[in-house]
Amino acid sequence: MVTGMIVLRQVNKYYDKNKPNEMHALKDVNLTIPDGEMLGIVGPSGAGKSTLLHILAGIDTADSGSYHFNNTKISGLSPRKLSAFRNKQVGIVLQDFSLVEEYTVLQNVMIPLCFAKGRLPKSKKETAMECLELIGIQDLAGKASGKISGGQKQRVAIARALVNSPGVLLADEPTGALDSKTSEEILRVFLELNAHGHTVVLITHEQKIAGYCHRVVRISDGVLE
Ligand code: ADP
Repeated sequence: MVTGMIVLRQVNKYYDKNKPNEMHALKDVNLTIPDGEMLGIVGPSGAGKSTLLHILAGIDTADSGSYHFNNTKISGLSPRKLSAFRNKQVGIVLQDFSLVEEYTVLQNVMIPLCFAKGRLPKSKKETAMECLELIGIQDLAGKASGKISGGQKQRVAIARALVNSPGVLLADEPTGALDSKTSEEILRVFLELNAHGHTVVLITHEQKIAGYCHRVVRISDGVLE
């Protein structure tokens, strides 16, 4: 039995392994994230933050070590099972919002539901609307995503990340493209979601941003302290 919702043990990740330009991007990383935590992972550019996020999200896999999520061993899963894990358990928010600008806000939030397996308890539209309401942007539902502000775009991205009811929200520099006032508003959205029980992992190079989290761990040169 592995306790903690997310448990990484002795995780190592290399790029270009056994080549002259080999990069040891994560070095014996140990990390336990309990259910309901709001964790900040802070470190300078090149420290290994995105690499760590990709492994947590099941986008990439470690070269050694283990990853457990709610007692399920994620390391070693087949690509098909890893993709199912990613779709069901992980919500991702990125710096550049990654919205389809020609789609409406509602259509963007519905996208992950199109990949969901099995029967959905409600219609896709109803589920997506509930997420927009949760973030307080239901009035934007019919707007073109290319015609709203940066802060609104990031709210849409957060609603989209929530639509499959994931076990964890992973945010990679979610305020990197926003001014300081809007950044604070977006951080408050994450805080509120966390207050309602969502587990949040926020990756940033800015200590100030990480300061919004309940616990902060530091990473530098692939070593997590
Ligand atoms: P951060 O997100 O903290 O800026 P990254 O995880 O992106 O750091 O990168 C960690 C290290 O791994 C850096 O030295 C980076 O250049 C290297 N790296 C990242 N991705 C790749 C890749 N696909 N191929 C080779 N090296 C990479």
